Amino acid sequence: TNATWHPEWIWRNGVLTPWENATIHVKAVGHASVSAIFEGIRAYRSSDKESLLAFRLEEHLDRLLMSARLCRLHIPYTTQELHTAIVELLIANEYEEDVYIRPWAFPGGLVREMMVPSGAECEVVIDTWPMASNLSTPRDCTAAVSSWVRINEASMPPRAKTFSNYHNGRLAVLEARANGHDIPILLNERGKVSEGPGACIALVRDGVVITPSLTNGVLESITRDSALVLLREAGIPVEEREVDRTELYLADEVFFLGTAWEILPVTILDGLTVGDGKTGRVAALLEESYTAVVRGEGEGHKDWVTEVPRRPKA
Ligand code: PMP
Repeated sequence: TNATWHPEWIWRNGVLTPWENATIHVKAVGHASVSAIFEGIRAYRSSDKESLLAFRLEEHLDRLLMSARLCRLHIPYTTQELHTAIVELLIANEYEEDVYIRPWAFPGGLVREMMVPSGAECEVVIDTWPMASNLSTPRDCTAAVSSWVRINEASMPPRAKTFSNYHNGRLAVLEARANGHDIPILLNERGKVSEGPGACIALVRDGVVITPSLTNGVLESITRDSALVLLREAGIPVEEREVDRTELYLADEVFFLGTAWEILPVTILDGLTVGDGKTGRVAALLEESYTAVVRGEGEGHKDWVTEVPRRPKA
């Protein structure tokens, strides 16, 4: 997808809108942006190539409403209405490849108050763009523990998916890149492992998968949840708990988990080779079962995917 590409249709406040018409006044940008919230969802092309499969749509839309509640914003749509909107939008744009779906909401109107009041009515927008999955493509990254500390419950709750929260991750990414690493790992205010800038993290030690529990400054990740379910089903023991930085250094495997990054193995961490420096056994096994579910193969977890039919050709 090049920089000038855009979809034909974007969903805005209940209406499929031509891309060119989806504009706002400059005054609408500023304080309204500070309290804006969003979601990131993937729809995968099914293995039989007959449809797109939106992954855990209900859970993502529930999380959008959860973020709205935590930010005291009013979204004037139900999850059912937003669910229908996403399906209609994918059909209207005639996607046949893997797609990323970005619903977001921001206080509408010409916001004049620095402190957007409780209950502010939101504009809701849904954008989409092609994003090829990296599942089944060998890949890895280098990572480094960041000197930036993860935002925490006492200041900027990480559980809410607000655009503002991403300034923390952005600073960490810029630092990591300046030092020649791909991705930062943030520790929380207690010095325990929290997550990456746009994904959760897990490690494998002595055959046990360990991931920071949800009270360690992490987003309530849907990929993390899916991975824990699939790993347990495969008979692999999993632990959700506080994780020390040095456990990362002693791990046989470390990988990120998130909608966009999917399952991304870390092969070098703070200059130390992780395991044998290749994708590990557990990450590979998880990737295989995750791929089968998101692409609609087999009978497992059919309720995790929403089938989006192709628009019948005229
Ligand atoms: N943490 C952060 C900060 C994220 O931005 C994301 C991506 N949404 C995740 C974790 C992973 O969440 P999910 O699996 O729901 O995409």
